[in-house]
Amino acid sequence: MANLQREPKKYDVVVIGSGAGGGTSVRVLTEKGLECALIEAGPMLDPYSEFKEHQWPYQVDHRGAEQGGKAYFGKGKPFGYFSTTSGGWQLDGEPYTVGEGSQFQWFRSRILGGRTNHYGRMSFRFSDYDFKPYDKDGLGVNWPVSYDDISPYYDKAESFIGVTGSVEGIRSAPDGIFQPPPPPKAHELLIKQACDGLGIPCIPNRRAVITTPLNGRAPCHYCGHCNRGCLTASAYSSSQVEILPALEKGNLTIFSNCMAREILTDDSGKVTGVSYIDKESRQEKQIRCRVLVLAASACESSRLLLNSKSPRFPDGVANGSGLVGRFLMDTVGFSMRGYVPALEGLPRYNTDGFGGAHLYMPWWLFDDAKLDFPRGYHIEIGGGYGLPGVGFGGSTIERHGGFGQGLKEQIRKEYGCFVYFAGRGEMIPNNLSYCEIDPQVVDQWGIPVLRFHFKWSDYEWKQARHMEKTFSEIIEAMGGTVQNPPRPGDRGISVGGEIIHEVGTVRMGDSPKASVLNAFNQAHEVPNLFVVDGGCFVGNPDKNPTLTINALAWRAADYLAEEMRKGNV
Ligand SMILES: Cc1cc2nc3c(=O)[nH]c(=O)nc-3n(C[C@H](O)[C@H](O)[C@H](O)COP(=O)(O)OP(=O)(O)OC[C@H]3O[C@@H](n4cnc5c(N)ncnc54)[C@H](O)[C@@H]3O)c2cc1C
Ligand code: SF4
Repeated sequence: MANLQREPKKYDVVVIGSGAGGGTSVRVLTEKGLECALIEAGPMLDPYSEFKEHQWPYQVDHRGAEQGGKAYFGKGKPFGYFSTTSGGWQLDGEPYTVGEGSQFQWFRSRILGGRTNHYGRMSFRFSDYDFKPYDKDGLGVNWPVSYDDISPYYDKAESFIGVTGSVEGIRSAPDGIFQPPPPPKAHELLIKQACDGLGIPCIPNRRAVITTPLNGRAPCHYCGHCNRGCLTASAYSSSQVEILPALEKGNLTIFSNCMAREILTDDSGKVTGVSYIDKESRQEKQIRCRVLVLAASACESSRLLLNSKSPRFPDGVANGSGLVGRFLMDTVGFSMRGYVPALEGLPRYNTDGFGGAHLYMPWWLFDDAKLDFPRGYHIEIGGGYGLPGVGFGGSTIERHGGFGQGLKEQIRKEYGCFVYFAGRGEMIPNNLSYCEIDPQVVDQWGIPVLRFHFKWSDYEWKQARHMEKTFSEIIEAMGGTVQNPPRPGDRGISVGGEIIHEVGTVRMGDSPKASVLNAFNQAHEVPNLFVVDGGCFVGNPDKNPTLTINALAWRAADYLAEEMRKGNV
């Protein structure tokens, strides 16, 4: 430990991780006058040099598919050169392992703002019944909070971030405070018509993109490049909308390229600071704080807790219940492509829009007692005249084969005639899905890594079959044909982690024996420790998780600041 360096300053709050949870925390806490340090494993972000918005495929080598088409074949940077990630499915020097008999994929971003720099920005409130699932069907457990507790924080988050939508009065998709939504595209009108006939609601999408000016941010200019990062910050990212503005206002110090290794505690069990690796100097350093807020993403936060052992916490900090790492959940995913002849020969027009679908279908069968699976799913859609990139026309080649002029004509004819449906469904937490420390493997910093175990149950498989049936019916109602029927045991359901909605593992609850955190994201056993990423989730309703992470983190920050003011923390 001769090289160990200690920051002389003691911060009011140290926050680890700068994604949705961490970004919200530092903004709210610094606005309340608390002096915060943000430890982020990735580098600082300069949107102007990092983001690839508006670049054409022909402007870059290999049209963005990397040498030998690596990205095209799933071996290069995830989503190719144009994605804004500094991270991906695999990180050099930072492995994870998967237990025998399991399949799991873990997408990590290492950059200021984490995965909010390039996420899909689908932003749905949980419904009242999503917080009390056990009361509905006796499966899983209830959250220690209700919709009424969280609703004011959904209001705050939507008003601050900016989320499009329309007031619909659908119980499964509570209305919020919305920015005006963009109008539907042609293929979406056809999908809506088919859904109307089938009794499936098809409504304006709810995305964290602004369509009117908000807090100095310009509205979306419909370039369709959100997954590359948005230079005008019209699409929400915690880096541009929360952290960089907070940095300008003061009270915030950012330690980028610093990987937290261990949470330090004293004999009374309170957190005193964090030990981290400065990745540039490869030195171990320590920082002190009054309160620690963990927001390193669901599984990374578990990893830190489990790796922080002491005589007081022999199984890891705040893990007296033995539940840290348990009840890992992802979203149930199933997708289908259809070909719709009615879309052939439409005049070409720009369907880019705001970087995602302008419509979606919320869950509509929540009162149907005849379903053979519990809970439900929503449907995300795709289609239109997307910007041709490497691999463009592949679906037509799959369908017809051929080459030369004939193939070119066929590709032109079929351009814009494909529609896509992706189901996003609720997983019931189970005992066989969890993460733990792998006793054999460490990363390049010598930090023990996670080993994942994951299992879908019959509930999720049956739900995926229902998605398959529904998507086929919609495509047929459009007069189209299903293009990629799933092969048994293959793409019948997503691989765990593949939908990138991994949550749970540090769950909230009323009882310290049955949960790690209380209803305000505070560790039952360690009053000056909070976990505000998706780790705190008790269930994983079909709604994508990030808006709820924002809302819960904001609520936890308000509570924490008040407890500090009262001298309770
Ligand atoms: C392509 C894609 C599409 C998605 N689409 C949607 C969507 O449409 N809607 C939705 O709700 N969600 C979506 N998600 C999921 C969404 O991105 C995550 O739910 C959300 O960003 C999680 O926020 P977080 O704060 O938990 O963590 P993250 O955003 O993962 O941020 C965690 C940060 O912590 C840092 N970190 C980790 N470990 C350490 C450590 N030891 N020390 C220091 N720093 C550390 C990481 O570098 C990272 O920057 C999508 C994700 C991806 C990748
Ligand atoms: S579509 Fe809108 S929100 Fe998305 S990158 Fe373009 S301007 Fe930004």
